[in-house]
Amino acid sequence: MLKISPINAFSDNYIWLIQTNEGNTLVDPGDSKPIISTIDKLSITIDDILITHHHYDHIGGLESLKPLIKGSVIGPKNNSIDLLDKHVGEGDTIKSIGLEFSIFEVPGHTLDHIAFYSETEKEVLFCGDTIFSGGCGRVFEGTFEQMNHSLEKLMSLPSKTEIYCAHEYTLSNLKFALLAEPNNLNLKEYQLDSTDKRKNNIPTIPTTLGQELQINPFLRVAEISLREAISDKLDTSNQASNAEVFGFLRSWKDSL
Ligand SMILES: [Zn+2]
Repeated sequence: MLKISPINAFSDNYIWLIQTNEGNTLVDPGDSKPIISTIDKLSITIDDILITHHHYDHIGGLESLKPLIKGSVIGPKNNSIDLLDKHVGEGDTIKSIGLEFSIFEVPGHTLDHIAFYSETEKEVLFCGDTIFSGGCGRVFEGTFEQMNHSLEKLMSLPSKTEIYCAHEYTLSNLKFALLAEPNNLNLKEYQLDSTDKRKNNIPTIPTTLGQELQINPFLRVAEISLREAISDKLDTSNQASNAEVFGFLRSWKDSL
């Protein structure tokens, strides 16, 4: 059994609750209040907590939750995050509630950012603020090159991988995606589906890697159709590198 449910926090954060027959694990508990009401309602206890990066909206609930958990708080190699029991990095694997997770270091949004990938039950990725549906995290601490490389690393996972990111940013991301690639039919169709879901208060997350490769401009920087679509704004004829196209898109979106 593997069940993954969102717990809404702040205005648009998803804290993920992962449940198996062996227990319950949380990812990025930015706020303890909605978690405590969820675990009370479900009469469950929390085993482990996984942390993707140091931003407050991902760790803010740790102080209240740590005394309540049975297992460990596992996060990146960043000593500025208090209350971590285990620091993990590229190539490490961990076990939690019967699931094995591989760790990827994905710097860019922050330098300490990691992602947790498991294929024990099915392919699932918890990537914090790295890939969003239709977009990606802002590059606050790393370089465009680093962030592009991190995205490429995650793009090599199986296309059926379910992506559990930490924010519901899909509709605003898709507006930008359509500016970049107005003739992408998959993108138009996905926008209609996602708009419908949000009207009915249904999360657009998880998405899948296969879906994102079709519609997410930040994962499409090598695609000729994307490069042609932005050729009036960026000279892509002269073999612009993937990181250059990524940097152009990211700066453009940031400027809107
Ligand atoms: Zn963040």
